Amino acid sequence: MTYAKKRYFTYALITIITLALPFIRIDGNHFFLLSFDHKKLNILFTSFDMQELYLMPFLLVIFFLSIFFMTTLGGRVWCGWSCPQTIFRVIFRDLLQTKIFKIRGNIKDKQRPSKNYPVRKALSVAIFALIAFVAASNLLWYFVPPEDFFAYLQNPAEHKLLFGIVTGFALFLIFDVCFLAENFCIYVCPYARIQSTMFDHDTIQVIYDERRGGRVFDGAAKLGKKPVAGECIGCEACVAVCPTHIDIRRGMQLECINCLECSDACAAVMGKKGEPSLISWTSAHSLDTGKKVQYFRFRTIAYMVIILAFAIALGLMSTKKENMLLNINRNTELYHIVADGEKIRVQNAYTFLIQNTDNKAHSYTFSLSEPRIEFVRPKNEIKLEAGAKRKIVVILETKERLIEENMHDTPMDITITAVASDEPERVRVERHTRFVYPKMSEIEKAMKK
Ligand code: SF4
Ligand code: SF4
Repeated sequence: MTYAKKRYFTYALITIITLALPFIRIDGNHFFLLSFDHKKLNILFTSFDMQELYLMPFLLVIFFLSIFFMTTLGGRVWCGWSCPQTIFRVIFRDLLQTKIFKIRGNIKDKQRPSKNYPVRKALSVAIFALIAFVAASNLLWYFVPPEDFFAYLQNPAEHKLLFGIVTGFALFLIFDVCFLAENFCIYVCPYARIQSTMFDHDTIQVIYDERRGGRVFDGAAKLGKKPVAGECIGCEACVAVCPTHIDIRRGMQLECINCLECSDACAAVMGKKGEPSLISWTSAHSLDTGKKVQYFRFRTIAYMVIILAFAIALGLMSTKKENMLLNINRNTELYHIVADGEKIRVQNAYTFLIQNTDNKAHSYTFSLSEPRIEFVRPKNEIKLEAGAKRKIVVILETKERLIEENMHDTPMDITITAVASDEPERVRVERHTRFVYPKMSEIEKAMKK
């Protein structure tokens, strides 16, 4: 099978996954969703609150390390096999312009200028514009879930910003894919510039086998169309097919997007002579020594270990996720003493901010680590719908003489546990705070009043 066919299959798979993922929900959660509207973050079908955004750096570190790892191992494999720019260019240039509208002669010759068919050109851009709008919407579905997006679509006038972003992104895609073309890869894309720093002798690249094919270039200078000695017949099929208009026989170049079309082209030419392609997808070290590509080496193993460590840390933090939020703040008044003759009660007041970060409604109850202190408020369960939050005033009280201290008030460490009554094991949080007990002189003062 040619590399082109393998790439098309990969593109189809990536497209289907990218389109389908936002529609898949498990327990109401998406694979990835960063919703500013609902202040919600979904990662791997688990829901997190915006206050749990501290997980994002882990994701970003894993993302960037994976890019470094992938580049060290496979060079520009992303560019040729997964980059949306390349996928869209194949759809626009090879499918729409060449195969359907015949504006270009042949996908094997990308150097020839396209024919002057203004109507067909306009039609190809119009069809791509539809694809661009779907792609822009697809990107937005990772920030505005499809269930909301299609509801908003019924009333676009109320969601001008959202549809402005979709339109802006779609217009950029149309300009980029239909007019900027591979110039984006050559002049704009920052990844193309930094990746060569991550290459080593074992990185897989698209390489012309100069020892078999013969020398065609001396540095930048071309010695001739074909080498003086070598198997290369100088047909330049590899040059004609190249979308970035380079000659891979000159060696690795920044413009090469790793599409391997040149390798396929040479395979067809050399295949007639019963020989393999002069352009292969291998490492320089493997080509020099004839040994297998060394995938496991210090750099790649180090990347794998670090990525795994971050993934485990992220997994552990995700499993420790709390399904409710509870912030406890003490009120400014230290305590309140209620005296009834010899009997006294000491009260402390707090403000609880509770949020239900789960996907369903829950009723919450509270308990205390200190049995001599009890709740005066709230008396009943606090019910919250999914995602809802509420502030409540909480009064704790003791009727007991907890501490007999003459000189100063005594703060006692207490633990407050909140649980959802329907799922006390799963939805449960503990918070530490203080209960301040007054000094004896204050109690006596209150009793005398
Ligand atoms: S396609 Fe192969 S044989 Fe033809 S010019 Fe390129 S490297 Fe030489
Ligand atoms: S040299 Fe051109 S055709 Fe060959 S892999 Fe690079 S970009 Fe593709």
